Amino acid sequence: MHFTDLGIDNRLETQLAHQGITQPTDIQAHAVPTALAGHDIFAQSKTGSGKTLAFLLPAVQRVMKQKALSKRDPRVLIVAPTRELATQVFTQLRLLIAGTNIKALKILGGENFNDQIKALRNDPHFVVATPGRLADHLTQRSLQLSGLELLIFDEADRILDLGFTEQLKMINELANHRLRQTLLFSATLDHAQVDALSRNLLKKPKQIMLSAANEQHSDIKQSLYLADYLDHKEALLAHFVKQDDVGQCIIFTATRADTARLSELLNSKGLKAQALAGDLTQSKRLDIMDAFSRENFKVLITTDVASRGLDLLSVTHVINFDLPKHAEEYVHRIGRTGRAGFKGTAISLVGPKDWPSYKAIKSFLNDELEFHTVEGLTGKFKGLRDKKPQVQNKVNDKVKPKAKATPKRKAKPKKPQAPIKAPLNIDGDAPMRRRKKPEQE
Ligand code: AMP
Repeated sequence: MHFTDLGIDNRLETQLAHQGITQPTDIQAHAVPTALAGHDIFAQSKTGSGKTLAFLLPAVQRVMKQKALSKRDPRVLIVAPTRELATQVFTQLRLLIAGTNIKALKILGGENFNDQIKALRNDPHFVVATPGRLADHLTQRSLQLSGLELLIFDEADRILDLGFTEQLKMINELANHRLRQTLLFSATLDHAQVDALSRNLLKKPKQIMLSAANEQHSDIKQSLYLADYLDHKEALLAHFVKQDDVGQCIIFTATRADTARLSELLNSKGLKAQALAGDLTQSKRLDIMDAFSRENFKVLITTDVASRGLDLLSVTHVINFDLPKHAEEYVHRIGRTGRAGFKGTAISLVGPKDWPSYKAIKSFLNDELEFHTVEGLTGKFKGLRDKKPQVQNKVNDKVKPKAKATPKRKAKPKKPQAPIKAPLNIDGDAPMRRRKKPEQE
């Protein structure tokens, strides 16, 4: 199948061919004609499956071929949760519109507000933005949405998780006219809040659910390793990063402080590593991303700020130094590798603190997620037993020989918290908790 079979213009197809893209992916084959036909879309498909072009192609084609509703307002607005993801989308958009007279602007938090106002006066056709800064421009009326034709939310679930529900409502209301078309994409949309939001945002949407959020990614090999406390994790990390098959590697940690510490540690071992966290200035964040994408260094250590924004085919390994608190984030983190049909490896270190996350992820993926070991680096931690809260704690079993004969016995003695052997088969996982507010865009 060719892109022209989906209704895509020859010029765009040629532009894609220059990038080596000739065959539509599944999500593109489904979403492009649906979007071109003017339907609203609610689409879920795996990480790295080509979602960005699935919404950019019909958007660019619309701007190329259809008359604008307004000469001044942007025609297409794309909202992404993080600066990294917005930058990624913008880069792909720029490639698509190269050589046309279509104007596109990126509006991110952390950049000069007045410069953005000036750039907006240039009447861009496309605006790609993070929600916080976008809302600031809407409040200040430096950006109007009454002529908006196409509203696209990339990774809508993450936008909500970051606490931008009010901003989304504002965007929706300011661009609320009959002709607006809305597209919502992510790898993980089965999320109660997303359902509620989509009822307000979307009109009779076509659902394109190409894979369940918890479906295993066939191009990503996942392995988990039990780890004792920090020293053991660090020894395992250094071991994995040094392996010959590691091209570029992304390490995820729970805290910003750990990104800096691990970067120092790996550099001291002669491995070129850099830390990327949300507290860096925007230009520094972009510089680091740029250097990593040019393969100037091998290891990027980051938090969830980058769990959805990085699309680099040279990333062969993702290492979770700590597990994310929420299972969807695990799916997005490991999805930084195994993209566009390439194979990738995801390694997760699971210590005592990671245990609840491990259980949540295991339950979400409905998978056994067995543990592996590294020779010479096996630790003592073997997992935790489930707590059984209703059970009474009998202090001394020996004084109760008649317990068996008592018919009305209510509770069994509580089993001691003892290490057990992996692989574990622990049932009765707690329902997943809502995420705490994560690091902001
Ligand atoms: P995405 O899921 O949109 O982040 O895309 C993941 C990667 O797949 C990006 O590097 C895209 O450039 C690439 N890609 C997107 N569509 C195609 C396609 N039809 N054929 C080959 N590569 C693609």
